[in-house]
Amino acid sequence: MKVSDILKKDTVTISCELFPPKQGTQLENYKKIVAEMAALKPAYISCTYGATGGTSDYTVEIADAINANHIPAIAHLTCASSTKEKVRSVITELKERKIENILALRGDIPEQADFPLPDQYHHAYELIEEIKSMGDFCIGGACYPEGHPEAATMDEDLDHLKEKVDAGCDYLTTQMFFDNSIYYNFMYKALKKGIQVPVVAGIMPVTNASQVKRIISLSGNLVPAKFTNIVDRFGNDPQAMKQAGIAYATEQIIDLIANGANHVHIYSMNKPDVAGAIMDNLSHIYVRD
Ligand code: FAD
Repeated sequence: MKVSDILKKDTVTISCELFPPKQGTQLENYKKIVAEMAALKPAYISCTYGATGGTSDYTVEIADAINANHIPAIAHLTCASSTKEKVRSVITELKERKIENILALRGDIPEQADFPLPDQYHHAYELIEEIKSMGDFCIGGACYPEGHPEAATMDEDLDHLKEKVDAGCDYLTTQMFFDNSIYYNFMYKALKKGIQVPVVAGIMPVTNASQVKRIISLSGNLVPAKFTNIVDRFGNDPQAMKQAGIAYATEQIIDLIANGANHVHIYSMNKPDVAGAIMDNLSHIYVRD
């Protein structure tokens, strides 16, 4: 099923995310995590590509496993580290495996500066155009409520986002944020730019203290005092930190839904227990099929 059809419905959706294994020998164990995540009955599950510790090689396999568990799968696909030929071969494989949803991303620029390769897509919008030309996919894109770190200004970033949507994005998913007012502000500006596709709010449950430093260094997120106080108070107690992280994410999601943001993506990072605890907290708000 296409994610765009799911997002058209006037109901709350909660989706989850997985990352693929580094080695083929781990695939079977990862497929068990897929089954556990699918048992939570999220609206869909996405699988990252070459990010957060996994490699790109197994994204298609994991997306296939998600579909096999009767949950719509999204395969992420990046282009910054690949030739056009490699990217096209992945799109062809996704088509053959009947994976209908692709989150089209540029990816981070590789540090070993071979970028750009002679035969390469430079921005996500070019990848979106290519995917559109190759099949009837539902295509998602990334957006940044605090602005993409490389963009000189938020306004410039929004202009590029509008180009990306015009290239054929069916929906957007946000980078994580820890203060909902940042999301509301972004939505206001995006609408003013004429961006009208559904925007799924990305929420990261932070359940251990070491995640926080990594998140700030990777994305430059604004972290409110309310959140750092939790890390200061509970960071050395893994059980307490997990409980507080789940509660914080739950509170963010309830506030989003109460204010009309119906679509929430949990950056669940291969932790079905964390995603499950949040969904249990929402059991009268998010009705699972
Ligand atoms: P783009 O949309 O191409 O934008 C990148 C930068 O270029 C921005 O600053 C933008 O303003 C600028 N820009 C865009 N178009 C133009 C133009 N025409 N001219 C000049 N400048 C332009 N990374 C992974 O490696 N794997 C993943 O699975 C992954 N999943 C993600 C999922 C989500 C929801 C999000 C928010 C991010 C994800 N990322 C992932 C990280 C992402 O790859 C990086 O943030 C990357 O730096 C930007 O990718 P993009 O698709 O947003 O790029």
